[in-house]
Amino acid sequence: MNSQKIDIKSLQYDALQELVKDLGQPKYRAGQIFSWLHEKGVRSFEEMTNLPENLRKELSEKCDIVNITKKKVLTSSIDGTKKYLFELQDGQLIESVMMRYKHGNSVCVSSQVGCAMGCSFCASTLNGCVRDLRASEILDQVYEIQKDIGERVSNIVIMGMGEPLINYDQVVGFVRIVSSENALHISQRNITISTCGIVPAIIKLSKEQLKVTLALSLHAPNDDIRKAIMPIAKKYSMQEILDACDFYFQETGRRVTFEYCLIDQVNDRPEHARELAKRLKGKGAHVNLIPVNPTPENHYHEAKEKEIRLFTQILEDSQITVTRRREMGRDISGACGQLVRRSS
Ligand code: SAH
Repeated sequence: MNSQKIDIKSLQYDALQELVKDLGQPKYRAGQIFSWLHEKGVRSFEEMTNLPENLRKELSEKCDIVNITKKKVLTSSIDGTKKYLFELQDGQLIESVMMRYKHGNSVCVSSQVGCAMGCSFCASTLNGCVRDLRASEILDQVYEIQKDIGERVSNIVIMGMGEPLINYDQVVGFVRIVSSENALHISQRNITISTCGIVPAIIKLSKEQLKVTLALSLHAPNDDIRKAIMPIAKKYSMQEILDACDFYFQETGRRVTFEYCLIDQVNDRPEHARELAKRLKGKGAHVNLIPVNPTPENHYHEAKEKEIRLFTQILEDSQITVTRRREMGRDISGACGQLVRRSS
């Protein structure tokens, strides 16, 4: 990929209009190009058959269409979940997951190649972070999966590899494009950004006028336990995070979901549930419990069924809504925390 060229798939509609204007073209060309890229998902300028030849040539001199390439697809025999391995133009590998629910098809996208956050239970962080993804590379995960399954994608969770709020601009750019009317028009309410709690970025996101759901990976009832399993907890305290989440709710009217992955003996004791309940009480909080998924490298065990039920009960007794995340695609290592950049 030529870094001097414009990454045209990452451009917002108004930026594309500017580009078209600079090329001395009529305004409606921006709509045509945007639709080719984001509705029809073409991979080259040659396929934009309603553009004049000279414009296609000029565009290919100035711009690149950043594409990702499907290398491998694994389908879970348990629940039909599909895990995709994609190769980027510089040879890096990322993974994405497609899950079928009654309410539609949901795609879990990666936001970085690897991850720098270092959470001890997560496989994505094992070899650190190589680089951020561009908006175009995040979009292409959705476009290529949609082509592969031949069905519409209705939900997106930015919960794959990487910390989305570290790659803030590209992630917000991605959300704006994928939800826009003349692209896939996926409702922002059906898009979830999951973060380990980058406080200044949560505050900034609150003011973007987006309607996305924020999922906060909490995983602990207090700072001590959080610090032991999530290095980011040394930078931002739980109090700062909860305040930032309150602010997000105030500004957007969107309730924050707290993700809590239950690890046997580490954070699944009744006293942990009681402490968590105390901290979240009265906030109208919603907690999503996830039994920790094993990875080859971590030594954690998932919480026992009895403990999960007790944990749930204690939270519910404090009027906290609790859901349990279904573990999907475990047999293909496609579940939370199991995504890595490897091809085997
Ligand atoms: N960096 C972001 C998004 C990626 S992780 C974040 O931290 O939220 C997506 C979700 O999977 C997070 O809630 C994360 O904590 C959870 N997760 C990671 N490893 C897991 C594992 N081994 N088992 C269950 N959930 C895990």
